[in-house]
Amino acid sequence: MFLTVGTTGTPEKPATDLGFLLHKHPGRAQSFSTSHGTAHVLYPEATAERCTAALLLEVDPVALVRRGQGKGRGGAPDAALAQYVNDRPYAASSLLAVALGSVFRTALKGQCAARPELPEQPLPLRVEIPALPARGGSELVHRLFGPLGWASVTAEPVPLDGQFPEWGDSRYVRLVLEGEVRLADALRQLYVLLPVLDDAKHYWVAPDEVDKLLRAGDGWLAGHPEHRLITARYLSRRWGLTRDAMERLELVRLAEADGSDVEDIDNAVDDGPEGADGTAKPVPLAAQRREAVLAALHEAGAQRVLDLGCGQGQLVQALLADPVFTEIVGVDVSVKALTVAARRLRLDRMGERQSSRVRLLQGSLAYTDKRLAGYDAAVLSEVIEHLDLPRLPALEYAVFGSARPRTVVVTTPNVEYNVRWESLPAGHVRHRDHRFEWTREEFRTWSAGIAGRYGYSVAYVPVGEDDPEVGPPTQMAVFTHPATGTPKEGKAA
Ligand code: SAH
Repeated sequence: MFLTVGTTGTPEKPATDLGFLLHKHPGRAQSFSTSHGTAHVLYPEATAERCTAALLLEVDPVALVRRGQGKGRGGAPDAALAQYVNDRPYAASSLLAVALGSVFRTALKGQCAARPELPEQPLPLRVEIPALPARGGSELVHRLFGPLGWASVTAEPVPLDGQFPEWGDSRYVRLVLEGEVRLADALRQLYVLLPVLDDAKHYWVAPDEVDKLLRAGDGWLAGHPEHRLITARYLSRRWGLTRDAMERLELVRLAEADGSDVEDIDNAVDDGPEGADGTAKPVPLAAQRREAVLAALHEAGAQRVLDLGCGQGQLVQALLADPVFTEIVGVDVSVKALTVAARRLRLDRMGERQSSRVRLLQGSLAYTDKRLAGYDAAVLSEVIEHLDLPRLPALEYAVFGSARPRTVVVTTPNVEYNVRWESLPAGHVRHRDHRFEWTREEFRTWSAGIAGRYGYSVAYVPVGEDDPEVGPPTQMAVFTHPATGTPKEGKAA
């Protein structure tokens, strides 16, 4: 198995800087013993104009057999690979990734003591892997490397045997990546994506693989459109580990999205049509929503309240200001949002009486959570649209099936109203993290389905100006469970 990494340069910025970045001197060949054999690093060319480093892994068949890795998927010999690995058909590119991770460990981290400024700079890179096992073929290779900033991604199928074209293609492709990319980024992508494409059984999948994946995926994996497939394959479909990784990636993704304020477009009502005519400045929609939620909670007689997906804690703050609410729990998956919420509430400076009324918990609503049982009411304010539709049933079960408060208040944008937002281009959702926005009918269908499945009744309340044609900007559903005791009687069943 081998791969080459090459770059070009000028006398002022010589290509041989690659040697500094890789921590391997271009002037000599070096060998390293790895757990699966010997890895060689050599430079077929090393001038100021062009420099190419090659990593060649000589797999030790005895070590492999001892480790029970003697066969590839299905165990069939693969003729195309034979020329690269001396008739040893079982070498998997996962092993190459392992070798890459150990031989170029420092480069992978983006560290370069001799020239600290170098790793930060994108280089004109060319990566080639002549025979890359790719389950999913060149199409998947494009889906995986396409979104990662390369100017060109080539993945040519390798024929099973050059002498017998009628045999068709092997499961290998010749991969060439070209573009201005930082070397550490390129190596970290390869470190993760080679085993993903190989998709062979990896005996080394251990819990700390999740940490390795997240470290190597830093900066590119969370936002990758195929992050699910990458995570599941990298962790060899160990679903426990995959779920753990997915949750942690979600945190990363949310933290990255946090730069844009969750309420930005909804608050644009400040400059909306009514304000522009010089009429009274309207109340921001977010504030109107909080008022509507508080009114619904009052009407339900709720005292102990969950704010699920509490974000930066505005509603928790409003609940705290009202002594009717004796216990308030804010829950969010985003640690960053909770940190902002804690600061907003001045949790650290709160007197004992106040602080005994409020708690902030980190957790995902896509999983049942015992801590959420036994409350009078739960609020999901502008939260459901942040979940992928296929994950919504899990949230439904966690809230209506497991936590099961007597009252559940749900708000979500009414997509029909979007035509009334002047600042919103046609066809756009209100926030870039919204996975969907519903019409009134879609929201009612969803709500009625839940009410039926979980034994709740449901009423709908418009929030904001109820436009005769397109309805209100925010739609709200108030679910009530008739069989659960009223809050005054104590804990909900
Ligand atoms: N309720 C607040 C914030 C809405 S923004 C308001 O009305 O202003 C949506 C919030 O849901 C974000 O803070 C986001 O971190 C949180 N969220 C998204 N998916 C979640 C999940 N699976 N579990 C818990 N919180 C989630």
